[in-house]
Amino acid sequence: MRLLAPRSWLGFIVRLVLLIGFVAAENILFARFFESLEQREMHSTSYYISHASLVGGPLIAIFLGVSVYQVRLQQKLWRLSRKDGLTGLNNRRTFFELAQKARTSHPTGVLLMLDADRFKSINDTYGHQVGDICLKSISYTLQRSLRKEDIVGRLGGEEFAFYLGGVSVETARVIGERLTKPISFKSDRDASLSVTLSIGAAQWQHNISIDAAFARADVALYQAKKNGRARLEVWDPQMLVDQQNAVADKASSASM
Ligand code: GH3
Ligand code: MG
Ligand code: MG
Repeated sequence: MRLLAPRSWLGFIVRLVLLIGFVAAENILFARFFESLEQREMHSTSYYISHASLVGGPLIAIFLGVSVYQVRLQQKLWRLSRKDGLTGLNNRRTFFELAQKARTSHPTGVLLMLDADRFKSINDTYGHQVGDICLKSISYTLQRSLRKEDIVGRLGGEEFAFYLGGVSVETARVIGERLTKPISFKSDRDASLSVTLSIGAAQWQHNISIDAAFARADVALYQAKKNGRARLEVWDPQMLVDQQNAVADKASSASM
């Protein structure tokens, strides 16, 4: 199929001339083999059907082949641009886009930001491939807890996001806390391993942007890591104050 696609005007003209030649050759062959038929049944339906099939058929087959190839290519490009290659979840851009769209039917909901705990040590101990298996198990677990109003995506690395449309913080806490339980996965050598997630949750109210809601979920996630991992923390304005104070304390002790 790639050979059929011209890459320049010269290529276009060469292919055009070749295809016209091909059609002419088909016509000559048809006339040679069906000469008597042509004379006898010049205007019969079967004459036109055999002419269309034998002369137009190969061209139509090429056209349909090209269309199938194009559609498959488009689907592949669509998948590559919207889905994460490793897990098949929505990629970051798609997640943001779908979450914005979901807001039109559920104006409030809860955003969860999820991060695998001590994931680097899984990579370091068992290898990158096992790390990838771990990421796939996490994505499978997330997909299983997905309701039809929810959106899930991989933001990058070992970070994921979940949008729970139309739920209260209390319900999001129940759903999210289930996701903090160990998620098991297998490596070739070690029968069974497990990983946990830390989760930051923030209500996405109608008066704040998705970026602002994400920033809040991120602050809550930082708090979940600080409080010991494998847990869910819900954003609270005090967290930001505490984190800013902690940064200021660190800076002043470093300057002393
Ligand atoms: P924490 O509990 O604080 O989140 O620690 P962590 O080890 O999970 O976090 P850190 O940011 O130190 O390490 C994340 C690691 O994720 C580092 C990077 O090599 C790895 N990583 C990122 N993307 C991929 C991927 O697609 N596959 C694999 N196997 N590893 C990845
Ligand atoms: Mg991380
Ligand atoms: Mg991590």
